[in-house]
Amino acid sequence: MSSHTDLQHGTVNNYINGGWTTPKTDGQNVNNPATNTPIAHVNYSSETDVNQAVTAAQAAFEEWHQRPVEERIQPLFEFKQLLEEHQDDLAEILVEEHGKTFGEAKGELRRGIENVETACGIPTLMQAGHVENAAPGIDETAVRKPLGVFAAVTPFNFPGMIPLWFLPYAVATGNAFILKPSEQTPLTAEYLFDLLDQTSFPDGVVQLVHGSVDTVNTILEHDGIEGVSFVGSTPVAKTIYEKAAANGKRVQAQGGAKNHVIVTESANLEFAAEKTVGSALACSGERCLANDVVVVEESVYEEFVDLIEAEVERQVVGNGLDDDTTIGALISPEHEQRVRNHVETGVQEGADLIYDGRDIEVEGYEDGNFLGPCVFRDITDDMVIAREEIFGPVFGLMPASGINEAIDVMNRSEFGNAASLFTGSGAEAKQFRHNAEAGNLAVNAGTAAPMAFFHFGGQKDSFFGDLHAQAEDVVRFYTDETVYIERWPDE
Ligand code: NAD
Repeated sequence: MSSHTDLQHGTVNNYINGGWTTPKTDGQNVNNPATNTPIAHVNYSSETDVNQAVTAAQAAFEEWHQRPVEERIQPLFEFKQLLEEHQDDLAEILVEEHGKTFGEAKGELRRGIENVETACGIPTLMQAGHVENAAPGIDETAVRKPLGVFAAVTPFNFPGMIPLWFLPYAVATGNAFILKPSEQTPLTAEYLFDLLDQTSFPDGVVQLVHGSVDTVNTILEHDGIEGVSFVGSTPVAKTIYEKAAANGKRVQAQGGAKNHVIVTESANLEFAAEKTVGSALACSGERCLANDVVVVEESVYEEFVDLIEAEVERQVVGNGLDDDTTIGALISPEHEQRVRNHVETGVQEGADLIYDGRDIEVEGYEDGNFLGPCVFRDITDDMVIAREEIFGPVFGLMPASGINEAIDVMNRSEFGNAASLFTGSGAEAKQFRHNAEAGNLAVNAGTAAPMAFFHFGGQKDSFFGDLHAQAEDVVRFYTDETVYIERWPDE
């Protein structure tokens, strides 16, 4: 067996108090999903490692939150510049450990950078309110104040973006921040902190601890941490929400998803087919915004199914670093098997598998975690494949009598992360906007991804908490409001 240092990227390090250290507990290899070969090793942070990070964060917070807000955003401008300069190298590492395409990795980094840019507006975003003559002789002011040390626990699927839904806002508001990224994709986080190390953030304001379940539990139980942001699967999100709350912490926990596309007779069907396939298959379907239940008005169902087949035919499965690849590898052999089991379940449930990508072979990458697109028609909403998150390049189509039935289908889902409607009718768009139960809705767009200056979060089993990621919501999550009442009686 090769030693960790023989691996291309060696052992991944923590970033604590402005320096690099190796976490104490032996962990796991980080594999390239396209080849299934180890490229790095990540250890898990012990209680001692987490304690060191929290102690450094608490000390840093004392000085950091007293700094003028304009000073607190200067390191973010430096970070934004470094992210721009290094985005190709970052994207390459991201593809190596995640498997998505280079274009998808660059797109994800762009969304991350947008959050850094938005957080540079904290001097305005942090303002609360002031009312003169709120009561006889009294002026009243609300002030948003940082709370101390916050942590975020993030998933494998957007390692370059999701940490940035939180980090820039947490520190710009005056807190200290600790990231625990996914143990499956820790290299991108290490690179982000390599860039942060080159900025003027004081030691201890931004820190990185790697690890798995035990490390997360240490974070959740630590008295020195005020709140936790989580993004990941629904069962874990629910556990995190409960444990953090039981330990008296603020918590926002974003979970899994099952998203719907509705296509009505009045839609531009070619456009809708292209965007539907893009939405379902981007990042190999490993997206919380992937729309994988496609509900189509029955009068155009057959025509739409044909358009979808033609669009799927154009996809190219391969190594994410190859230019023509549109669908990269899945994160791990275990996850690939889970997705394949879902396809088998769909077949057994009686759905019609009209496009079967299970036999795909990618020349030169025979050991990679590849699965070609799998498309079902005539699914029904009681089937497992229509109800459970699959997180792979798999989607299904079903007919509906019209917009009302289609909205009913999506609203019966336990999840509520996102949905898209393709239509040519303003009245249908209005019905969708008023009645569809999901946190992110799109009309004539395949993916309902909000820009950084709007909040991002789902509903129902896709979210546990009240304040979401990004923008105004996350600023409120990272601050507490004090109200001042002043009276100066006239002499
Ligand atoms: P995951 O839940 O397995 O892991 C997420 C994080 O939690 C990781 O850092 C992991 O180390 C940690 N973790 C895992 N099990 C834990 C446990 N029992 N106790 C404490 N911590 C634990 O999720 P994943 O597989 O990395 O990511 C995919 C999931 O994330 C999908 O369900 C996807 O829909 C969801 N996701 C949601 C959003 C959103 O905004 N709602 C965005 C991206 C991904």
